[in-house]
Amino acid sequence: DLGKLADRLHYKAYAVGGFVRDLLLRRPNLDIDIVVEGDGIEFAKEFAASHGIRARCHKKFNTAVLIFSDKLKVDVASARFEYYQYPAALPIVEFSSLKMDLYRRDFTINTLALTLNPDDFGQLIDFFGGQRDLKDKIIRVLHNLSFVEDPTRIMRAIRFEQRFNFKIGKQTATLMKNAVRMGLIQKLGGRRFFHEIDLILMEENPVPAVRRMDEYGVLGLLASGMRFDTRMEELFNRIRNMISWYRLSFLDEPLEGSWVYFLGLLSGLHRNDLEKVWNRLEMTENQRERMLWTYGQVESLLRGFFQLPEHRPSDIYRTLQPFKPEELLFMMARTEREEVRKAISHYFHRYRRVRTELKGKDLKAMGVPPGPIYRIILDELIDAHLNGEVKSLQDEWGYLK
Ligand code: ATP
Repeated sequence: DLGKLADRLHYKAYAVGGFVRDLLLRRPNLDIDIVVEGDGIEFAKEFAASHGIRARCHKKFNTAVLIFSDKLKVDVASARFEYYQYPAALPIVEFSSLKMDLYRRDFTINTLALTLNPDDFGQLIDFFGGQRDLKDKIIRVLHNLSFVEDPTRIMRAIRFEQRFNFKIGKQTATLMKNAVRMGLIQKLGGRRFFHEIDLILMEENPVPAVRRMDEYGVLGLLASGMRFDTRMEELFNRIRNMISWYRLSFLDEPLEGSWVYFLGLLSGLHRNDLEKVWNRLEMTENQRERMLWTYGQVESLLRGFFQLPEHRPSDIYRTLQPFKPEELLFMMARTEREEVRKAISHYFHRYRRVRTELKGKDLKAMGVPPGPIYRIILDELIDAHLNGEVKSLQDEWGYLK
């Protein structure tokens, strides 16, 4: 349908970039990017109108998003020529053709295009040798100034190399090292830098990519003390296990795995290095406070609470309740002690969802005057549940009496 509409508007339309790459690699990818040689916004509006879906348009960038569903969105861009004001700046946009559009992309493997117009539907267009590099498993930039134009590509190269188990080309690797040495990463805004790190930590296995970041000197730029040594690697592997365990056990629950790794990555830093990283990445006040709180609490629990010989379930519940799952997974990975992991696992599986049968309205019906006392009574009932002292509604009544 996209191709037919393109024909009708006398445009050419192409699927491009990561979608085509993943198609050839036989990897699933529902992020479809389309480039039209023509007015992408008009194209998107017409398509949306005739298919009863929504289109979100960005006039400034001449792009639009077709929203088929929550999961399936199609990005539409107008083939355009971009030039950069100065290194590490955002691009300024002007009109031009497909080849120019593909030329401004990061790596050859992301420059493949498939024609969507019905006459030559599915024809693969390869201006820059992307097919060969896919076959040879090589990450290669299109020209020598690529990393100068956009230093985030340094992190993107590492991410794709590890995700696909490819190799960064020799010339590209040299350009990357030069770019790091020339201080181009320092020109990157904190938010973009943080976002790239986050993307790496969101990979299925970020361990080899973080090791590569260290090898290319990117980690050292965050804080001089930051190294991906064997201790850190072991911590990362434990975090990975904890995250897989959690995701398998609680399939539908959201979890920000990258934050667990990030807590791990910064966990060995002294306060002044930590502050340097926070400032460099322009982290929010909230993130800083939460991180500091987590480190402090985790250490004090491991040295205090978890040294006690025995814990009632209600004590574990009350102690762990203030933590987010990400923070508890960090604690599980941080400790070497099996019994601590077990306690946290019990909290996740058994304790955290315990609820009372009696509710506030029942207390009211019993004639208890409303007030803070309700919280106290219901909390006691929860504790009694956790410790196995009550099991049913009847038990709860009995307990209250
Ligand atoms: P992922 O699976 O990680 O989403 P992707 O290749 O689909 O991989 P996106 O970040 O969604 O990555 O980018 C879509 C396309 O836009 C890429 O295939 C690439 O061609 C281009 N692109 C993205 N970021 C850059 C960049 N910094 N420089 C040049 N081209 C880029």
